[in-house]
Amino acid sequence: MGKFSLEETVKYNKSGPARYCCRTDVWKEAAMILPSFGKRAVVSGGTRSRASIREKLFPALDTAGIQYVVNGFSGESSMNNVKKILDLCEEFKPEFIIGTGGGKSIDTAKYAAELYNIPIVTVPTIAATCAASSNQIIVYSDEGEYLENIYPKTNPPLVLVDPEVIVDSPQGYFISGIYDSLAKWYEGSASLPGSDNSDIFDHMALAVAGMLKAQMYEKAVSAVRSMKEKTVTQDFIDVVNLNIYTASTVQALGIKAVRNGIAHSVQNGLTLLEGSHDVTHGEKVAYGIGVQLMVLESPREELEELFGFYRSLELTPTFKGLNLEFTDDNIKKVAHKAVNDVLMRAKPFDVISEEMMCSAIHKLENYC
Ligand SMILES: [Zn+2]
Repeated sequence: MGKFSLEETVKYNKSGPARYCCRTDVWKEAAMILPSFGKRAVVSGGTRSRASIREKLFPALDTAGIQYVVNGFSGESSMNNVKKILDLCEEFKPEFIIGTGGGKSIDTAKYAAELYNIPIVTVPTIAATCAASSNQIIVYSDEGEYLENIYPKTNPPLVLVDPEVIVDSPQGYFISGIYDSLAKWYEGSASLPGSDNSDIFDHMALAVAGMLKAQMYEKAVSAVRSMKEKTVTQDFIDVVNLNIYTASTVQALGIKAVRNGIAHSVQNGLTLLEGSHDVTHGEKVAYGIGVQLMVLESPREELEELFGFYRSLELTPTFKGLNLEFTDDNIKKVAHKAVNDVLMRAKPFDVISEEMMCSAIHKLENYC
């Protein structure tokens, strides 16, 4: 199996999905658009995601006269899982791949499509990440260890989102996506001013991230309530779009200087702790945003705004609140991994020491 690689600069190209459709009657439209990709497809996704669209996607494929085979995804977006899809492609000779589910399943399908050189259509069935519309793929080992980011030639040309499917998905994923999207603003607004290679696209990215933050503060609580009540409201659809489309736009526009920083490095540090696997990625990032505000000595109003928002979503951003043991050893582990993260070794965060990080962690624990 070949390995995909592009020149480093290609990841800086500005991109977005060619067609992003999010509405409850998206399947009628899908039946009309999908034939333009061909008559044969591999559909790849986990059991839960495929079940959630069984009565929707598959009838649309039948209506469109598209023959398909199904690949059952489980585990990580690892090369072995990519290879499984490629083996199926060798046998079935599809003209496109449909990736369903969450980030890991969709990234696996995206990578297989890239290597097999056919288009990928994504059908996110949770709204936890922007993987469905983004121009990057995160590769893990089979054991779940992060390996690398891959930048395919294009974003997925078609993204199909049915809010009725998302509203029935586990709420924890949706809330995780809210925190992860919110981090775009906090991390970007901290990284851009000190960056030495920003361009106009980074400034656009930050403007979009600012809008994302304002909309999230206004609508996230109501969107989560809709999910509890299993009702699709406009606020709910707006937050789904913020989590998937807007987050991927900020990522594509701001890849040079509006990027992950302190919050994601702290989340990477937290992954070392026992019990952290029961905490979602977004909750760990939310905690990381809190540490960021402490380490950068952000004004009190900013702390109150953020922690008030967390309270309204019933999150206590502390070790205790995340059910992690607040010991010196654990604090040092997190701080050590965080400051040595590649994101933190670049400007403007390279001045943050392990001691500063430990003290920020203490401050946050006492503040909340
Ligand atoms: Zn993230």
